[in-house]
Amino acid sequence: MAHDFESLIVDVPDFPVPGITFKDITPVLADGPAFAQVIAAFADRWRDAGLDAVVGIESRGFIFGAALAHELGIGLHIVRKPGKLPRETRSVSYELEYGSDTLELHADAFDASGNNVLVIDDVLATGGTAAACCRLIAEAGGVIAGCAFVLELDALAGREKLPQGTTVQTLVHVS
Ligand code: AMP
Repeated sequence: MAHDFESLIVDVPDFPVPGITFKDITPVLADGPAFAQVIAAFADRWRDAGLDAVVGIESRGFIFGAALAHELGIGLHIVRKPGKLPRETRSVSYELEYGSDTLELHADAFDASGNNVLVIDDVLATGGTAAACCRLIAEAGGVIAGCAFVLELDALAGREKLPQGTTVQTLVHVS
């Protein structure tokens, strides 16, 4: 089913580098009813899933993750680029097309608030980022209830990189 907010997502050719079509979701955030529709679609799917927390991936995952966690009345953990979190962290490195990248999570993230979590980001592209985030959560003692994305680039088959059997919710599929 098509969502009304879909038409607000803007394709930006050749950003941030030539050959990439960037899916800009900021107009969705700027439109109150559209933003609310996105969060309602996530909340409807996960309200009864027994989640303890949402994990947002830097940086647009923070925006959707915070709104969803608030809507569900649960906490938010944030997975960040290296050097941003102030206390002891766990980290995971993963391969990019050229080079590698690292993500960090506070080491005590799952001590206090339970450990059944939903991972959230704006776009699932190659899947490297979300897969690394899932690895990091598992190593930190978290349990992945599922992953949720506003938009998925189906041709890149990113969901195949996620742990086998992961439940994935995507609001907009782009072929
Ligand atoms: P990937 O690891 O390839 O799945 O990339 C996912 C991360 O990069 C997400 O945090 C996205 O926000 C961002 N990203 C990747 N490709 C795009 C794209 N075409 N448009 C917007 N964001 C993207």
